[in-house]
Amino acid sequence: MAVMSDPIERCDVWELARRGRVVEGELAVKDAERLAEQVADGEGTLRFRFSGLIDERGRAGARLDVEGTVQARCDRCGGPVEVPLRERAQFYFVDDEGELGRLPIDVSPEEPLLGSHRFDLAALVEDQAILAMPISPRHADCTASDADGTGPRPDGRTRRPFEALAALKKRKG
Ligand SMILES: [Zn+2]
Repeated sequence: MAVMSDPIERCDVWELARRGRVVEGELAVKDAERLAEQVADGEGTLRFRFSGLIDERGRAGARLDVEGTVQARCDRCGGPVEVPLRERAQFYFVDDEGELGRLPIDVSPEEPLLGSHRFDLAALVEDQAILAMPISPRHADCTASDADGTGPRPDGRTRRPFEALAALKKRKG
């Protein structure tokens, strides 16, 4: 039974930071277009928690926690494989695009974001989920074995997933 999820409301990050407010919610994978393109199907939901704060340097910021489970595509057999996602990041907000461009490269873990009174939180949650996606998801007990040529090559490099998939289709056909 599909439950309609409300669109995530845009939020005022300046107020969120100043008041230390927290926005919590869920984003269905199927509603996250860019993420949905990278997974085997749109099953699953991302839970998030966006916590406003003033950081130790006095800047308006927020911490974002995202977690959930998606159906990624196995790099070896092409089938769906359940992957847990968990990502935490801290941001600080800047006033305008120009300021964002002038910021020196910073080694601190906090990332600058363009602040807004109508901030697109859903897009940020999606960005973080995409970052958390494994580069090469695989079944722990994948049935496509190394012996049939889909595993690592003798030169130590792994075949590209689409090659493995093409090889698989050829054998079946
Ligand atoms: Zn597999």
